[in-house]
Amino acid sequence: MVKDLLGKWKLLLLKITNHNLLYRGYMYDFSYPKEPIGGGNPYQRCVSCKKSDPAINGRVEGHLENCQWRRLREAPFGIEQRAQRQDSVVAQLRDLMVVANTLGMYDAADVIKNIIDGKR
Ligand SMILES: [Zn+2]
Repeated sequence: MVKDLLGKWKLLLLKITNHNLLYRGYMYDFSYPKEPIGGGNPYQRCVSCKKSDPAINGRVEGHLENCQWRRLREAPFGIEQRAQRQDSVVAQLRDLMVVANTLGMYDAADVIKNIIDGKR
């Protein structure tokens, strides 16, 4: 029982540490989708930017700047920049409230709800 709990804590700690190391760029990340380069070349390459594994060498900056995987990897919460919406500010705030709730930002969601209610 205690051993089980310790094992779970160790795993959680390892996950947090790995995430921090990845976030700070101290660890290699080969998790991007790959495909064979082909033509007798033994290496694989990123499906999006076509840079080879050895050229990337596990570094996010090893991908081209317009690489879709890199853009998602560097985007906050894994959400890419989108074009400006043309709908009402209330509609946009409603969607923002859903996002805040999804991310567990309940206090922020409440503030957004108050702003929406004030605009009605
Ligand atoms: Zn890439």
